[in-house]
Amino acid sequence: MTASAPPRLPAKIHPLVRAFLQAPGAAEDALTRFGSPAHLVFPQVFADNLERLRTVLEQGLPRYRICYAHKVNQSRAFVRTAEHAGVGIDVASEAELASAVGAGFGSTRIEVTGPKGEEILRELIATGVTINVDNMWELHRVAELAGRHAGVPVLVRLSGFAGTPVSRFGVPLGQVEDVLRALAAHHGRIDFRGFAFHIDSGEPGERLRAVEACLELTERAYAHGLAPTVLNIGGGFRQVFTADADAFDAYVHALRESLLGHGEPMAWGGNTFGFHLEGGGVHGTPVFHKYANTVPADRMLADLLEAELDGHGGRSFAQIAAENLLEVWLEPGKALVDHAGITLARVEFVKETADGSVLVNVDLSRDTVTPADQEVMVDPILLPGVVHTQDNSDPIGVFLAGRLCLERDLVTNHKVWFPQRPRPGDLMVFPNTAAYHMDLSAARASMHRLPPKLAVVHRPSDFSDQGKYEICRDDDYEPALMAGGPPQSAGPQWHEVQ
Ligand SMILES: *Cc1c(COP(=O)(O)O)cnc(C)c1O
Repeated sequence: MTASAPPRLPAKIHPLVRAFLQAPGAAEDALTRFGSPAHLVFPQVFADNLERLRTVLEQGLPRYRICYAHKVNQSRAFVRTAEHAGVGIDVASEAELASAVGAGFGSTRIEVTGPKGEEILRELIATGVTINVDNMWELHRVAELAGRHAGVPVLVRLSGFAGTPVSRFGVPLGQVEDVLRALAAHHGRIDFRGFAFHIDSGEPGERLRAVEACLELTERAYAHGLAPTVLNIGGGFRQVFTADADAFDAYVHALRESLLGHGEPMAWGGNTFGFHLEGGGVHGTPVFHKYANTVPADRMLADLLEAELDGHGGRSFAQIAAENLLEVWLEPGKALVDHAGITLARVEFVKETADGSVLVNVDLSRDTVTPADQEVMVDPILLPGVVHTQDNSDPIGVFLAGRLCLERDLVTNHKVWFPQRPRPGDLMVFPNTAAYHMDLSAARASMHRLPPKLAVVHRPSDFSDQGKYEICRDDDYEPALMAGGPPQSAGPQWHEVQ
């Protein structure tokens, strides 16, 4: 670029994760023991995130329930941590249901969302889990499958709120009258608990309008002789990836300039990241816009609860919920696992392409660190394997290439600058991968195994300020081990890494 500092996308890192990465040899040791690449999850960070949301809810609401949205990550350690913390869980498949039950969740703490076919409905009907109904077919099918006095707990998901993009999920607001009639007709078979929505938007007004619509419909349900007690506001509470919003903006500015042919090229293979190039300008919203967010989930939640509602005399959502004895449910996924996972890989080799680009090849593929082929706008962290004494210490801009024999397997399509040239054997840390990045799209192309998932625990020590880190397979993690003394000999294999 220039002699000035190169563009950077510094990652926000949780102090516990940072301390782990700074502990001499800790990350290297994890790979030596369990193989490279590997996903690391930090259940203590999950617990920390949960506590932040709880603090907000405790201040504003007499009645609430958090349901951890399992689909964000397959980690058993996170599910066990949620169970241990006493919250609920939102599952969206038979396998997630089995995972929740296996981790100790009783049916009253389980909610089933998402698209459901005949088979799973039959499985659910007698279990007592709450079915978050998506559509009229499902509602009728639940009623048919239920016995006359079954009282199957049901939420009804709504969509089509004013100013919200059309959704494939939920019953459109225009069909609510049919829903209310069906619920009244099947009283006894169905225990209608309330309305639900889930909007994946960072725009506060959208969620607030959905809340207002659901409150109004809750009133209408009373008029039909129904007695809803729950309002489920779903998930969609944002993560904060960037440690430096100004640096992020400066990077995106430089990227846009480069797309116009100004300055150093920063895009691999003609990628435009969702921008439109037209009339000598760069237009539109890039695919990676979520990486720019700076509003944390607890702030978003607090703002929603404190927001004054139209038509309620300026009273807040929290006040209205309290006055109407409504239990507010939420289904956070990414907000609970924000900063609670990283992915470690190793640099295999470095090469130059015909156009002079430098490719740093790592031993994982794009799909194991990228959700649904988005572009991840967070700099990986280079942990040099050995100190390179004769290094020319100039920063270098590279693209990261994956291990698949496919042209498109670039881990980054945007240029990433490192303080020094990476070398074979160096360790590459992909920050904040727990939310969807690890598990949503990962495939076993070329018969590569999926990276193992490991749980890392920081255990304070009486003898040193730093304490120590212990690491086990994700499947073997138990929350009790987090607080307690040394692991039992009969328990899972724990490895000290420091
Ligand atoms: C995916 C999903 C969630 C979790 O969403 P996040 O954006 O990760 O908080 C919650 N509820 C439903 C119904 C979902 O499909």
